[in-house]
Amino acid sequence: MEVRQCEQCAKCSGGCPTGFAMDYLPHQIVRLLQLELKETVLESQALWLCTDCKICLSLCPHQINLPNIMKELKREARMSGAGKVQAYHDAFLASVERYGRTSAALALGIRNGSDKEIRWPLLKRGKIKVFRGRVHDKVAMKRLFAQGKRRTLDV
Ligand code: SF4
Ligand code: SF4
Repeated sequence: MEVRQCEQCAKCSGGCPTGFAMDYLPHQIVRLLQLELKETVLESQALWLCTDCKICLSLCPHQINLPNIMKELKREARMSGAGKVQAYHDAFLASVERYGRTSAALALGIRNGSDKEIRWPLLKRGKIKVFRGRVHDKVAMKRLFAQGKRRTLDV
């Protein structure tokens, strides 16, 4: 497996634009895989924060294709029901597919923990719109999602 070649130089993590928010940085994900701790990776938030930007791949001295590894692991996490942020991820995409946008109310309704403290103050002050509008061109939105799903299946 290509992760065996990783020398833990952490260049991937240094260039990752979403690394600051990840629970495990990209080089740590690779290390976990080297140590055969895949379950930990499948439950990590990092998977869902990877944007497939491929910066890590361009910086890696061994051309380890971390974006593809992340994509594959995301798929596995989805199949196995693992993944702390999967419900949020799915609800966000379902909302965008259906309405062309998401809503802060939806996001705050699904997430818990620290959001609970800010949910009601924000609602009371009218900072969160409960009802969202729709995009006018719903057909174009559906076409975009169909293209995206086809492309994901082709990977
Ligand atoms: S492809 Fe993912 S892991 Fe790699 S740099 Fe981009 S966001 Fe980070
Ligand atoms: S840049 Fe490549 S070799 Fe370096 S830590 Fe990341 S995956 Fe490993």
